[in-house]
Amino acid sequence: MSLDLEPPTRQPLELLSTRDRTLAVPDKSNRLATTKSGGKMVAQYWENIFTAKERGKHVVWYNGTALNPIFQAAGLEWCHGEAFSARLAAMHLEGPAQAAGEEYGYIGELCSYARTHLGCAVMTQKGITEKQSGIVGMVDQDELAAKLPSPDFFVNAYAGCSTGQQWDAMTYRVFGKEFPIFNVSLPMIWGNKPDAGYLRGKEWETTPKYVEEQLKKLIEFIEYQTKKPFDWDALSENMYYIKRASELRLEAMALCAAAPTPATYWDWVASIAPINFLPANQMLVDYFQAVKDEIQQRIIDNVSAVANERYRVYFDGIMNWNKLGWLTRKFAEFDVAVVAGRYTHDSFWQEPDLIDVDNPLLGMAQHYLICPINHGLKIMEELLIKRCDEYGIDGIAFHSTRTCRAMTNPQHILAKTAERDRGIKSFFFEGDVADASFYKDDQLESGLVAMLETIDMQRARALV
Ligand code: SF4
Repeated sequence: MSLDLEPPTRQPLELLSTRDRTLAVPDKSNRLATTKSGGKMVAQYWENIFTAKERGKHVVWYNGTALNPIFQAAGLEWCHGEAFSARLAAMHLEGPAQAAGEEYGYIGELCSYARTHLGCAVMTQKGITEKQSGIVGMVDQDELAAKLPSPDFFVNAYAGCSTGQQWDAMTYRVFGKEFPIFNVSLPMIWGNKPDAGYLRGKEWETTPKYVEEQLKKLIEFIEYQTKKPFDWDALSENMYYIKRASELRLEAMALCAAAPTPATYWDWVASIAPINFLPANQMLVDYFQAVKDEIQQRIIDNVSAVANERYRVYFDGIMNWNKLGWLTRKFAEFDVAVVAGRYTHDSFWQEPDLIDVDNPLLGMAQHYLICPINHGLKIMEELLIKRCDEYGIDGIAFHSTRTCRAMTNPQHILAKTAERDRGIKSFFFEGDVADASFYKDDQLESGLVAMLETIDMQRARALV
């Protein structure tokens, strides 16, 4: 099978007013069907978590780094803070948790993932106090935000963000310091030495070993908490499935270099939860095989993810979960295929070759350090240019993620780098991970239209 790598058809951009476009233009996005099965797997995962205490399971709360293969091997049930906050936001159910967090004293400028999850902790703690059951949801079974099972302990291993590093410590306080907490320190990869680069240089060779030692200590801590020896064979097995799922995911992503693209960034956003925290098993592998199969079939059938793709855009910034469907349609409305992004393409087990199934801890440590907010600028620039070249990017949408400074900090320099090195234009719009009030639709539309006009002018000049 050969890929059509021709640039998309160049046609002038027709500008309509916001109202005309929103009301008159049909949905031109064509999302993958297979991601729906991922959605079902995620829903089942959370339903299972809600009954963890009834089943006598140990529950760990954590955020950031994907430590779940370790938790799974230890027979724990794991609750990932951002994942639950994102789920609430995607379902537009984050309000009660955010109100609870605000009432407790967390201001609106705090990361909305953390704010939502801390609100869940407040509601969970309230459930314990009022019912002494340890099972949240007794206060109000209808409130999804209040259904998390209370933790038996916390594990914090957050890369690249001071909020993330303190988030579990705050949750620990909300629970009256009654449950133990273990911290794994993930140092920033500065990447500022002459030999430094992505996955290379002395700093890269030494730092993961420091993290690997801490992972060994984490496993000792878990053994102490569960009073059970850790199952190292189970960890190897879990990492086998993660590695295979990751390979399939990357192969499928690579197919999207085709123009028009058979799948978009929004499909990869829909596939974050499976790769980031679902149990490692054959179902996970089957899911990514199905995603890849559908993409391959679309290429054979000449089916594109955006009708009349004319612009290929890269998305920088964490996902705005309240607006996933909205943004999918919005960009497609302007014939824009959002093809790749920093959040989707440079996170989540994105270097499967680093995983040694027989001795997985070092490869895991390496992945925890290559979180896209844990690099210095030099490496971020390298990765951005690499992705722009791989996917034939025309422009960049910078989601200025209001309460996530970690992702937003380098964006203006990255915009200049893309323009300087590749002549790639960009625009910025405001929004947030889990707080819809920060999103400004007019700002997105005016910025996007201005960027597309500039791209049109560049193309016209190139033809002269
Ligand atoms: S500010 Fe950003 S990186 Fe930090 S915890 Fe929140 S979402 Fe994560």
